[in-house]
Parts: sequence; structure tokens; C-alpha cells
Amino acid sequence: NEARLRRSENLASMTTMAAGVAHEIKNPLAAMAIHLQLLRKAFGRKESLTLDDAQRYLDVLDEEISRLNSIVVDFLFAVRPMDTRLRLAQITRTLEEVTNFVMPELSEHHVRMKLDLPTSLPKLEFDEHLIKQALLNLIKNAMNAMEGGGMIILQVRHDQNQVLLKVIDTGIGMDEQTQQKIFEPYFTTKATGTGLGLTVVYKIMKEHKGDITVQSKLGEGTTFTLYFPVPKSERLALDSQAMTEANYEA
Ligand code: ADP
Ligand code: MG
Repeated sequence: NEARLRRSENLASMTTMAAGVAHEIKNPLAAMAIHLQLLRKAFGRKESLTLDDAQRYLDVLDEEISRLNSIVVDFLFAVRPMDTRLRLAQITRTLEEVTNFVMPELSEHHVRMKLDLPTSLPKLEFDEHLIKQALLNLIKNAMNAMEGGGMIILQVRHDQNQVLLKVIDTGIGMDEQTQQKIFEPYFTTKATGTGLGLTVVYKIMKEHKGDITVQSKLGEGTTFTLYFPVPKSERLALDSQAMTEANYEA
């Protein structure tokens, strides 16, 4: 009975989510249809279509396609059971790859990005693909929060038991009330947001037996902190390293 209850709850929440997505998809589709029609009309009477007009219509189509893409990708990430493949590796390289990947778009938006890494770091068990997705979601949000440009810092710190990965921005920040809701599916303050980005990040961190917290101040900026447990094997490695160092000193 409990299982059946859970199943029907799952079904209910899936219906809600599907309805949400259908609703989200309607707007970009409508915009695409309109701009295709404009292009078609313009082609019909060639003289009145300037290249600038055509370029503008194509830009809108481009934008709406990428919006549709993120709606679908975010939705799939949010509802699909994750195929998580944890591997023991250095997260540093992943961070550098993400940084290189987002750099061009960030500089277009006058956003600078800094990587702040410690000299040594234990290896972590993580799914590279999922962590990249999580970081992209956070960086995208940070970028959206800094209309006139700003700074994003990816900062990593660690102690014996956990690694803290902070995404710090100098954006518009959030009030307390907003902070309470941001991890809920479909919560968004953006005209074209899906409200699924942080839901996905939260789910990804749970898959890593980790956590995520937010600190924010209106008008000053926001810091998201991702917590990763340090694997047992790496704790031992750190301990023995500390011991050899101690022996060395003696
Ligand atoms: P979306 O980006 O589609 O709105 P998210 O789940 O990624 O959905 O984010 C939910 C909401 O959290 C955003 O609409 C925004 O209000 C707030 N938010 C998230 N990240 C930031 C940030 N770095 N700075 C300010 N507000 C943020
Ligand atoms: Mg987002």
C-alpha cells in the first residue's frame, strides 16, 4: 500500500512536472513560429527584407532553440534517475576544463572568472559529467545575476573530511525569502527561466553524498558552496603524508 501510495505520488509529481514543461515549451515554440513566418514573408517580397532584419530573426530563432534545449535538458536531468558513475580523480582538471569552456561566453558578458585552488587536494569520488553540468548551471546563474559584468571565483578548500567548492559571484544577490525557495523545482525569478537548474545541482550533490548551501546578500553577491566528502582511502593517504612530514621534522 505504501509502495502504491508512493507510486501515485510520483505519478502526480510527474504529471505536474510534465505540465510545467509543456507550458515552458509553448512560449519558445510560439516565438519560433512567428519569426519563421516573418522570414518567409520577407523572402516573399525580397526588397523589404534587409540583411539586418533577417539577421535579427535568425538570432531570435537561435536563442529560442537554445532555450528549448535547456528546458528539455534540465527537465530530463531533473526527472530521470541519474546514471551516476563515481570515479576517484582530481577535481582540479575538471574545474580547469569548465573554466576554459565558459570563458568565451563570460567575456562576452564582461564577466571575469578566477580559479582559486589549494596547492594540494585529495582525490574525490565524482562523476565528471554530472559535476560539469552542476558547475555550468551555477556559473550560468552567476552570469545572469551580473548584467553589467562582474567576477566569478571558483574557490576550493579542504580539511580532513570534506572538500568545499565555492562558486562566488558579485551579482545582484537574493533576499532571504528567495533563498528559501531556490532549490524547489520550477522556482524562477527570470522571464525565461526553467527554475530547474538548482534542482538539478541539488540532486547531483545528493548523488555524491554531498551537499549544497547558499549565502547571499542583496546588491552584493552570492556564494554557492558544494560539499564533497573526502573518500576514506584519501583520508588515510593524507594522514600518512602528515606523519611522514612530522617524522621528517623530528
Ligand atoms: P532559473 O535559472 O531557470 O531561474 P535556477 O533553479 O537555476 O532556475 O535558479 C532559481 C532562481 O534562483 C533564479 O531564478 C534566481 O532567482 C535565483 N538565483 C540562482 N542563482 C543565483 C545567483 N547566483 N544570484 C542571484 N540569484 C540567483
Ligand atoms: Mg538557472
